[in-house]
Amino acid sequence: MQGLMIGAPLLISDLIRHADRHHGDAEIVSKRVEVPTKDGSGAIHRYTYREAHARSRRLANALKKLGVGATDRIATLAWNGYRHFEIYYAVAGLGAVIHTINPRLFPDQVGYIANHAEDRIVFVDLSFLPLAEKVAPALKTVQHYVVMTDRAHMPQTSLPNALCFEDLIEGSDDRLVWPEFDEKTASCLCYTSGTTGNPKGVLYSHRSTILHAYAAALPDALNVSARDVVLPVVPMFHVNAWGLPYSCALVGAKLVFPGQHLDGRSLHELFEQEGVTMSAGVPTVWLGLLNYMKEHKLRFSSLKAVVIGGSACPPAMIRSFQDEHGVQVIHAWGMTEMSPLGTVSTLKGKHLGADKEAQYAVQNKQGRVLFGVDMKIVDSDGKELPNDGKAFGDLHVKGPWITTSYFKGEGGDPLRDGWFPTGDVATIDPDGYMQITDRSKDVIKSGGEWISSIDLENIAVAHPDIVEAAVIGIRHPKWDERPIVVAVKKPGAGITREELLKFYEGKIAKWWMPDDVAFVEQLPHTATGKLSKLALRGEFKDYRLPEST
Ligand code: ADP
Repeated sequence: MQGLMIGAPLLISDLIRHADRHHGDAEIVSKRVEVPTKDGSGAIHRYTYREAHARSRRLANALKKLGVGATDRIATLAWNGYRHFEIYYAVAGLGAVIHTINPRLFPDQVGYIANHAEDRIVFVDLSFLPLAEKVAPALKTVQHYVVMTDRAHMPQTSLPNALCFEDLIEGSDDRLVWPEFDEKTASCLCYTSGTTGNPKGVLYSHRSTILHAYAAALPDALNVSARDVVLPVVPMFHVNAWGLPYSCALVGAKLVFPGQHLDGRSLHELFEQEGVTMSAGVPTVWLGLLNYMKEHKLRFSSLKAVVIGGSACPPAMIRSFQDEHGVQVIHAWGMTEMSPLGTVSTLKGKHLGADKEAQYAVQNKQGRVLFGVDMKIVDSDGKELPNDGKAFGDLHVKGPWITTSYFKGEGGDPLRDGWFPTGDVATIDPDGYMQITDRSKDVIKSGGEWISSIDLENIAVAHPDIVEAAVIGIRHPKWDERPIVVAVKKPGAGITREELLKFYEGKIAKWWMPDDVAFVEQLPHTATGKLSKLALRGEFKDYRLPEST
């Protein structure tokens, strides 16, 4: 017997329709990509969900006129901004698929994924015009490029069939009833950054996006509400800015899009100017902001919480935000294949009475699963390991917003007995908190045992003289691999190799002690701003360990 409920499909167009109807005057503020005039005017664009919805409908009508139909892939090379937001809703609303390309990828990779996705139209922000012009000759399926600007700022371009975004909007009607279709229809395509091999496409559906948006908004997840002002620093080309453009519409939060300048000064100014209460981004961004604020003795006047994820949040960063700035850190874990949210580290009631150190120990973990995500850790034979907070193994997940396979079947069937192997190595404690001890490919295998590179990195960055650190395994004749620390010093800091090694004493088992320290000017990062251990291992391939241990 079936339930007697209205079977309305879960569709993305309902999010913007809801935001328009019930939060129509809530603002969407964007730092423009166009250069402002000398007096600074024109730097900010400001409108409401109601206007965003009307312009999304106009854009959808314009796309229809260009022949866009269901399942067509429409790409973007764009920063976080209002036009990108409109494309999100116009494309998915029509039943077509928005493909957010990461412009930080190498041009060859951008070309590869646009061809692989068979993109029909590419929307381009002004700052990515040179990139688009460079790759355009190799793109086989693109029929139009739309430059995301108005007539006054429309540049000369070698792009074939270039159109102007504002011309499309002006020339079209806002009368449109969003079509209704199967909620399992594809809505959005994101390629993983492909640290090895070619990037692979993850294809979300309307249903997975809506369920994820609901779960992400909950108090024990990203905790967004109609009282919040949310600034997603995480790019809309990086797993849909962690779903915030959807969750914010779902709750009616004010949105602030930072455009292209993500340095400490630009972010701090925007936080203060717009009264931002919540923000989200990877640790590298926060490092820049915290350092800038320290240097200029600045405070936050409205910020209440920051979501930090994408790579492990250094414990020192959690303390700095909470102790020095009174800003709650929400440590989150996920991946492109998971839409991306999997776990969030918020306290349970029973932790509230615990001392501060015990609370920090919980927050340093990657956290508890959201309802909708199931997870387990397994050994190399696939046998489930105990959730005792000690045993660590490969982390497997499943749930309605987790991928079953990659676009066009690339890489074959990734699932193991119906579970998706994340490539992370983790522990799960009896309270359900998961802690990543490594990526399966980064864990250091020494004498048959595993050493967590992340634990060793966290200790290094807790030293006041160190800005950033990476730990990699170096071949060793007896132990197989031994860890070394590659670190960047704070400007003017005089820390030595011996001092940093001494800092580890008493914090780790003796056999985890790094064999060496190398100081460098900077560490390599991937297109999503994470440390690139692959590149670093390449740089250190001829490196010899000092005196064998
Ligand atoms: P890519 O970097 O390939 O685009 P994702 O952005 O999907 O991929 O990254 C997913 C991976 O990032 C996870 O599998 C995990 O290794 C790492 N990661 C994400 N959040 C965290 C976190 N809070 N702590 C540690 N690692 C994290």
